Amino acid sequence: MTWFKRQSDKIQAAEEKRVRTEGLWVKCEGCRQIIWKKELEDNLNVCPKCDYHFRLNAGERLLLLLDEGTIETNDEELASNDPLTFTDTRPYKSRLQKSQADSGLKDAIINAYGTLQGRPVIVSAMEYSFIGGSMGAVVGEAITRAIERSCREKKPIIVVSASGGARMMEGVVSLMKMAKISAALARLDAARVPYISVLTDPTTGGVTASYAMLGDLNIAEPGALIGFAGPRVIEQTIRQKLPEGFQRSEFLLQHGMLDAVVHRKEMKNYIARALDFMTPKAA
Ligand SMILES: [Zn+2]
Repeated sequence: MTWFKRQSDKIQAAEEKRVRTEGLWVKCEGCRQIIWKKELEDNLNVCPKCDYHFRLNAGERLLLLLDEGTIETNDEELASNDPLTFTDTRPYKSRLQKSQADSGLKDAIINAYGTLQGRPVIVSAMEYSFIGGSMGAVVGEAITRAIERSCREKKPIIVVSASGGARMMEGVVSLMKMAKISAALARLDAARVPYISVLTDPTTGGVTASYAMLGDLNIAEPGALIGFAGPRVIEQTIRQKLPEGFQRSEFLLQHGMLDAVVHRKEMKNYIARALDFMTPKAA
């Protein structure tokens, strides 16, 4: 019974000939259609078919808001020293190292100077991919420094939030930053320097409960998840089904939690107009 045995070698799969298509296409979370990545990037990472806003990283955010060639970053040396020597499924130190290697940042934030359509501004942009954009000692300190700089130099500040909330691996140290930033914002308010808070998908937890909602203007991108606790926790607590679209930008605008929902393409123009309105004209 040897007649059906394969005499020659196994057929070689032509691995190297296979065309690599992964990474060229992405599936839209909004309309479930397949979009060419290049087309998506050319459209500011907004779905050309349904306007779903994909997440931007902190660097892309700065490029979106600030004028080309004016961006200058600072406070890059700030890094967490793991104050609680915390370990869950793995040590916090190793999580930090991995996020630092992946993102090229020391923590979940970039502080920058620049001009926005010619107006000098200070921007703090949060990086969601860095441990869920969580706010620990470093993010708190960086935002506080940006606010203090804004206060000293009388330049408006824009904070772009993208965060899961306070960083639990730093426990109370991160919670204290909610108060620290809020106090700095009160001084900024007394100095009459504008603060614009831009809430992007997602902005939750301690970040929503502090600086993200303390702007002179609180504006959000369409469809962003914004809230304090997650919907499941709320449903289980109040034992009621939550309404459709609960905790999305549009719902929050309707219920008075936000001042505006602004499309990504309009964001820079919108902020420029708002700053014109809020700052006195040079005589
Ligand atoms: Zn879409």
